Parts: sequence; structure tokens; C-alpha cells
Amino acid sequence: MKVTCPICPKACVLDEGVWGNCRARCNRDGHIVAPGYGHPSAIQVDPMEKKPLYHFYPGESILSIGTAGCNLHCKNCQNASLSQARADAVSTYTLLPHEVPALAHEQGCRHVAYTYAEPLVCYEYTKACCETARAAGLSNVLVTAGYIEEEPLRELLPFVDAANVDIKAFDEAFYRANCQAALAPVLRSLRMMHDKQVHVEITYLVIPTLNDDLAQIRALCTWMMRYLGPEVPLHFSRFFPQYQLRDLPVTPLETLQRARDCAQQEGLHFVYLGNVEPQEGAETRCPHCQHVLIRRHGYAVAFDPAFDAGRCTVCGTQLYGRWRSCEGICRQNK
Ligand SMILES: [Zn+2]
Repeated sequence: MKVTCPICPKACVLDEGVWGNCRARCNRDGHIVAPGYGHPSAIQVDPMEKKPLYHFYPGESILSIGTAGCNLHCKNCQNASLSQARADAVSTYTLLPHEVPALAHEQGCRHVAYTYAEPLVCYEYTKACCETARAAGLSNVLVTAGYIEEEPLRELLPFVDAANVDIKAFDEAFYRANCQAALAPVLRSLRMMHDKQVHVEITYLVIPTLNDDLAQIRALCTWMMRYLGPEVPLHFSRFFPQYQLRDLPVTPLETLQRARDCAQQEGLHFVYLGNVEPQEGAETRCPHCQHVLIRRHGYAVAFDPAFDAGRCTVCGTQLYGRWRSCEGICRQNK
């Protein structure tokens, strides 16, 4: 019996025994299942800054879980051995959702990330882990391309605290040609997350000649200002040649600086540069008085004395984000 997968906009129609485009889901006995359930391919402890999240409990560690498969097929994928692998073909651990809180506790983590490939395609596992982690007082972070149908996302979001969402380009043609996906559902996901008070940050990998056009970057920033507001952090990340895009150069630093200048001109308060050494553009300034409140070097974080649990004590401005404090802990545990 043919079954249509309800999770992502690709809506794969699968015959018995056939796997979907994401290689994470298949038709077994007339039901769409995710065989990677309980069998992540990667488990490790990362700094929060690696996700990257800069305004969500900076400096804290996060238990990071990765399952195989992805519903995008980016020519520049950094993690193709996991994202493009079929869920039954990669070596795996066994970690059931109810075991996640104990592991996080043992590793000294108050947060769990679903990351490395695309957590939304192993949907049932990600959702079950989010539920058990939330019940144990942990926070949940999605690192995702956001390419999912409305209904499954709506059911997942009550258990999600934060997300870093990739926008691959602000251009449908790029999504089709480079990722085999579409932009519009990603923008819808971002608006849904923001509306549900999920803490959101956006990553945009700037690829020379393909998505580095300033008009396109300006259009992205205009969209963010209109639908998410000026406070959602935007990370411009540097491209390095890899996978199927080895012929392109590394993103010039000036290109990233121009992108950042453009985003700031459009009104965004928090614009960061990623994969850049030394870490120019990694500090957090108060959007009101411009005082530097957080400095970063690599994944290390240093707070200025004027920074108090998300507040700039120079001028009293409260920064967008979730910050550790007595009050923050109380709020988090509610
Ligand atoms: Zn200030």
C-alpha cells in the first residue's frame, strides 16, 4: 500500500519497503516509520556557541544528538556522511528518549540539541526526546533547515525552547538548484517559531557567487525586520570549499563585512560573523548604548561587568535572549 509521508513539503509517496527522499523515513507495513528512532549516529557535548546560539545561555554546554538523513541535499553540505546516509546504513548508538535526561545530567548539561544532520526528518524520535527532556526540566534546541510541514511543526513547538535555523539563500531558485528544497516553507517555520516564543537565531552561509548578492541579503534582512523584528540574531557564516562545491573560493572577509554592514543598515541589532579568525564580529554590543557586553574567542565567552543576566547596566536595556540568573532558572523550570 502506498503511503504519503506527512512530515515535510516533499510529501513523498512511498511503496512498501521504499525510503523517502530524506533517507530517514520509510514505508513499513503500510506505515511511515523512522528506523533511526532510538539510534542516533552522533552523541556529544558541545558548547552552546557551536550551534551557533549566542543569545541562549551563553557559555553553557549542551548535549547534542544527531540522527542520519536530511530532506535537503545541499551541494555544500558540511556533514554529508551523516545527512546523506540512509538511517540503517550508519553506525549508531542506542539512546531511547527516556534515557536522555539521565545522560544530560551525567554530562553536566541543562540543554539538549537535535543537530548535525536534520532532526526534523527523524521526527518521532526528536519529538519524544523533546518531551522527556522538557519533563525533566531540560531545554530543547533544534538546529535545523526548517523545511517541514505546518502541522508536525505545530505539534513539536510546545516542547522546543530555541532553534538555530539555516536560511540557505533568500532565493527560491537557489533552494531548488542547490538544496532540492524551497524557501517559502522555511520562512513559514520561522514565523511559527517566533510566534510561539521559541528563541530563534538564523544562520546564513555566504557562498561566493551563489548567494552573496547584497540585494538578496538586504531582502532577507527586510523580511526579518518585518516578520521577526530587529532583535533576532543573524549569523553570517564563512563558506569553505567542500563536498560538491570545491571549485568556489573561501568567502572573502570583505564580503562578510559588507553583508554585516547591510544587515545593520536594515536595522538588525545583532549581526555576527562565523567561521572567521580572529573572531571579528563575534562580540555582543548593547543595541542602545553600544557597550560591549559579551566577548567571544573561539567558543570561549567573557561577560563584561556591565552585563547582568541579559541586562546592560550602563543604560538599562534588556537584551533579546535567555540568560542565566536566579530569575532565569526559575522561569526555565516552570
Ligand atoms: Zn546599554
